[in-house]
Amino acid sequence: MKFDQGLWEQATAFHGHECPGLAIGYRAALAAMERLGVTRSGDEELVAIVETDACGVDAIQFLTGCSLGKGNLLYKNHGKQAFTIANRSTGKAVRVYVDASKLPVENDDRQAKMQAILTAPEEVFCKIEFKEIQLPEKARIFQSHTCTSCGEKMAESRARLKNGQVVCLACFDNYERGW
Ligand SMILES: [Zn+2]
Ligand SMILES: [Zn+2]
Repeated sequence: MKFDQGLWEQATAFHGHECPGLAIGYRAALAAMERLGVTRSGDEELVAIVETDACGVDAIQFLTGCSLGKGNLLYKNHGKQAFTIANRSTGKAVRVYVDASKLPVENDDRQAKMQAILTAPEEVFCKIEFKEIQLPEKARIFQSHTCTSCGEKMAESRARLKNGQVVCLACFDNYERGW
């Protein structure tokens, strides 16, 4: 795929700076979208599953249009540079795992690293696979519960039980850590 300087500049404007991490997400998003045959502007409804919360996620959001607020960006805390883009209308999904350490650069030069990520052939540093995944329903409306500890409301899926009382995750975590 030909490098699109204009698109990259828009992605860096969205993220706030250019960096190797953003480049990883940028390549992953394009690799997946190309294989799915979708574009951001298309009518296809995309879902993105990100396995990291690092810089690359911003490129995924920018290029796919998937966002946390829309409910079509799902975060799995695996600590991996892996990104899955799914097309809800066809059920097809592509997962891209990126290993930038396969692109050696001298002196750990960040700029050189970023350029290498942006321009190297995908097959050198990306593992790309078609996947079958179960997508969450479109609009999951949860019942809300009120935390017996702080009094704030939360979605039912986040509620936890502590000594038989309904509490929110924040209060549950504090309890776990013994605060
Ligand atoms: Zn960054
Ligand atoms: Zn609470």
